[in-house]
Amino acid sequence: MGSIRRAGALALILGVLFAPAAAEASPVRVAALQAALQALRLYDGYVDGVEGPLTRRAIVSLQRRRGLAADGVFGPRTRRALGWRGRPGLGSRPMRFGNKGWDVAGLQYLLQRAGSGAGRADGLFGPLTEAAVKRAQAAAGITVDGVAGAQTLRALRGGDTGSGSTPTGSVPTGPVRFLRPVSGPMGDGFGVNRGDHLHSGIDFPVPEGTPVGAAGVGSVIFAGYNSGGYGNLVVVQHRLGYTSWYAHLSSIAVSSGQAVDGGTRIGYVGSTGNSTGPHLHFEVRRYDTPIDPAPLLLSTVAGRAMTPARRGPSGGCDEIGRVTRGSARRGDWIAVERLCAER
Ligand SMILES: [Zn+2]
Repeated sequence: MGSIRRAGALALILGVLFAPAAAEASPVRVAALQAALQALRLYDGYVDGVEGPLTRRAIVSLQRRRGLAADGVFGPRTRRALGWRGRPGLGSRPMRFGNKGWDVAGLQYLLQRAGSGAGRADGLFGPLTEAAVKRAQAAAGITVDGVAGAQTLRALRGGDTGSGSTPTGSVPTGPVRFLRPVSGPMGDGFGVNRGDHLHSGIDFPVPEGTPVGAAGVGSVIFAGYNSGGYGNLVVVQHRLGYTSWYAHLSSIAVSSGQAVDGGTRIGYVGSTGNSTGPHLHFEVRRYDTPIDPAPLLLSTVAGRAMTPARRGPSGGCDEIGRVTRGSARRGDWIAVERLCAER
């Protein structure tokens, strides 16, 4: 009897000791911290919610700068040193347009993880964040008002208990695959030596004016001219930290903040920016690092997937639109393989 009571008391003590420790490891908390450190130019890694050596080094830099004990441990004093970027706590207020702080950065991370991303986690609740909140609310079937309160956070966190375990409610488990953005053969592949740099994507040498389709479900986070060489550029944020880039376009058919499905027409092939002739430069990044998209490409062409008229009114290809828009599928995939047979 006594030992059972002691065991109970021990469990209580352990619960008290370890519950905050588990919260420390929450990816949302780490992401909010990374966003704050990044804004203070102490951290140049990605806001991915994973506490690694780069994050710890940035904590030490912050502690040194503010005259705190440089132990690399993110405690209350260190958090206060972040100023407004360290408060208020996530869930302490409904977040809306114009708000800024720790909770907004955490929200932005959750949105990005769920595939409704604002494109970046900077702790500032602007138009892209508001559009992302509305998309997430619509996907969750709750009131679409662009204000992130308790219900929206619950929907975004799903089964995430803050213990660092894999969430089950909001993070999809389907494979990461992309549709081909245009119909046509591949030219230069990823990693080809371009003299002063390695090729960061795949080129599709197709004629000027060829329609370009989004490679999967996501939201447009950039649509405009890029002076760094990409020319007319569209960037789509997908779930799990993936973005897809469509460069050198002759014209753009979407706008920033817009939700897209696999196959949504985003523009037309051109030769704007640093380009020697009409082609589509297609790039995929994971947490802003270019990766080889070739192994992730489905055989389906995004542009074709959304032209059911070509196959007749009940040709079957319109099924793709339905399935990618369906909430279950939408959460599970970036893109789905063609569901209608070639006729
Ligand atoms: Zn290229």
